[in-house]
Amino acid sequence: MTDDPTAALIAFIRGRLDEREQRAQRQRRVRDFYREPCPRCGRPADGFGSAIDEGAAARITHQGDPLGCALTAEEWAAFGDGGPTPEATAQLRETEVDRSLLQEYQNLLSAQQENARETAEQGEHDTLRGEADYIAAGLRVLERWAWRKAAIWADHPDYQPAADTTIPES
Ligand SMILES: [Zn+2]
Repeated sequence: MTDDPTAALIAFIRGRLDEREQRAQRQRRVRDFYREPCPRCGRPADGFGSAIDEGAAARITHQGDPLGCALTAEEWAAFGDGGPTPEATAQLRETEVDRSLLQEYQNLLSAQQENARETAEQGEHDTLRGEADYIAAGLRVLERWAWRKAAIWADHPDYQPAADTTIPES
């Protein structure tokens, strides 16, 4: 734990972002594998159900055999996993954008604190950077955030990517 409220705030948000990422990673679609041969027995797959077997990820059912075959997590990932849901994909992208904004906030904050320290050491007539510099830097951070946020919906018909000249990276 820390006495610094900003550090505590950032740590708190990081923790929630980690949780959101973990939830999103579990939201996956099931691939359409109807009538494809079962990876266990080769009979046509009829459907699937959750596994009751320890260590199994799912059960592939067959016509006339509703219990079917138990698949390990690796077998299920190779056979039945259809990738993240569209909602999960958006949440994962959003988590990355939130993390990058948090990182930019931290970077700007420590640069400002470092500057304030050095300015105090050198006296007030020898200011290294003024507050106005941080307003400009803060605006650039927010501009990058806005473009990254928009890129989450890059598949939307109204989406327009940033021109290379408007958004310097980092
Ligand atoms: Zn089978």
